[in-house]
Amino acid sequence: MDKLRFISFSSGSDGNCYFLGNTNYGILIDAGIGPRVLKKRLKEIGLSTENIMGVFITHDHYDHIKGVLPFSEVYHLPIFTTETIFDGINHNYRVKGKLFEGRNFIEKGVPVQVRDFTIEAFEVPHDGHDNVGYHISYDGKQFVIATDLGHIEETQAKHFKEANILVIESNYDLQMLENNDYSDFLKERIAGKYGHLCNDETANFIAENCDERLTHVFLCHLSSHSNTPEIAYQCISQKLCGKNINITILPRTSPCELVEFE
Ligand SMILES: [Zn+2]
Ligand SMILES: [Zn+2]
Repeated sequence: MDKLRFISFSSGSDGNCYFLGNTNYGILIDAGIGPRVLKKRLKEIGLSTENIMGVFITHDHYDHIKGVLPFSEVYHLPIFTTETIFDGINHNYRVKGKLFEGRNFIEKGVPVQVRDFTIEAFEVPHDGHDNVGYHISYDGKQFVIATDLGHIEETQAKHFKEANILVIESNYDLQMLENNDYSDFLKERIAGKYGHLCNDETANFIAENCDERLTHVFLCHLSSHSNTPEIAYQCISQKLCGKNINITILPRTSPCELVEFE
């Protein structure tokens, strides 16, 4: 089968959009970039919007749904997510319009098939109206993505442990968060059980739970105020020292390099 390819177009609180596919087609996870940027980014990897078979939304926060209306109305891309997340999108005051066309309702734990990709949504703890991660199988490879989550429970751990390729949040460095000028309310929200994962939580989880099945880790959704790519990398590389895992820190506003999996 045609090799699996992954690229992050944008990752962080300004916008999230990830491509998973092969040389001919693929899917997007989240729609946190504008339609023109999407077109440009797809062209850079030799594809167009016609090669996108579906857009899978993780939750209704604006950095994940910024482009969802034009993706649906201008490019006619099928949008997949849970009914509650669709409701959340249509109640988000920053989304200028309502999404009715091309909606595909999915349920957590019930896989959907898009060509050669099997995609299953699973629950994640975060503060959107509803929040999911995705476990995607292709040609025997297990790709798991969870972009915003406050802590890790057994439901998510089960999928993370099965991953060959894991895209997981590493939002903040605890010390940087404590020392920055955010309000106490915001700090508590970020560090809370339904906020975001810090570098230590992500790195410790992987170090303690993942085995040789895991070959690639992509750290996503880094904070611009409370983290740096260097600090996140240092934290995880120390904890995964001795394991043969390829680590990539995803850039916040620019694409990463396209990765092709052997
Ligand atoms: Zn987010
Ligand atoms: Zn969020």
